[in-house]
Amino acid sequence: MATTVFVKKTIGGVEIAEPALTPPTLANPTLPIKPKLGTAKSKSRKREIPEGLWTKCPKCATMIFDKELDEHLKVCPKCSHHFPISARERIHSLVETCTFEEMDADMASVDVLKFSAYEGKLERDRKATLLKDAVVTGLCKIGPHRAALGVMEFGFMGGSMGSVVGEKLTRLIERGTEKQLPVIIISASGGARMQEGAFSLMQMAKTSAALAYHAQQRLPYISILTQSDYGGVMASYASLGDLILAEPGALIGFAGPRVIKDTTQAELPPGFQTAEFLVEHGLIDAIVPRNDMKQRLVEYMDFLTAGKKAAAAAS
Ligand SMILES: [Zn+2]
Repeated sequence: MATTVFVKKTIGGVEIAEPALTPPTLANPTLPIKPKLGTAKSKSRKREIPEGLWTKCPKCATMIFDKELDEHLKVCPKCSHHFPISARERIHSLVETCTFEEMDADMASVDVLKFSAYEGKLERDRKATLLKDAVVTGLCKIGPHRAALGVMEFGFMGGSMGSVVGEKLTRLIERGTEKQLPVIIISASGGARMQEGAFSLMQMAKTSAALAYHAQQRLPYISILTQSDYGGVMASYASLGDLILAEPGALIGFAGPRVIKDTTQAELPPGFQTAEFLVEHGLIDAIVPRNDMKQRLVEYMDFLTAGKKAAAAAS
């Protein structure tokens, strides 16, 4: 740093010293510059907080980094709580890359009964999910097996089954029968869609009949129950699987607990509509964690299609 030269001056009889040169400005690099508030310091503090969002697990209250949650297929790494997952994410987690051939992607519901606010709700959920209705169907490959796969989207009007969901699933099952493929349907649904009234209820019979023809051909049907499954969906195809699997913590029933309690006037056992309760009482064959689902499906299909393959080889 340059030394400052001082000169002596006498003002009013008092001798004072002052710099001979004008002091350098703040821009001069030889002088330490006072950091401006709210720049360097706040930048470094920002860097300490990673970008992205955190999600609080409703079961164990752990804060989980969203990226980590996605890597675990939306399962809490600490307590294994299964968060809801979209139909597209689920398909991505199960099928071999680029093997999903989607069917009837543009089939859309019509407001036949002119039900109050139905059109608006359809429009809202189409925007939110980028789907036309509450199920995605298609043929795919899971491990070495070709299969007909239908996945319900709870985010679209609570995964409710109207005429489009019923028709898409029926076509999927019929395609499975025609191509001699196992059918897998992953349900997440509040039941039949009330806005389509009897048209929704008719889907129960239609999907069940298609499954009966599929079964006549001795082809396997695996039903997987996730999140919550109630009403007309549970009373039709969701409970007709040769094998019925469920994700941990899935809620399963026909009507909700309060309705049952009011109707039967009986005390209900705690947790009687959970997958864990129902596996012990025989409605469900196995509880399969999401991270194991693909491998387990391959093993079940190995087993369920072995007889048919042996018969084909012998003929
Ligand atoms: Zn947790």
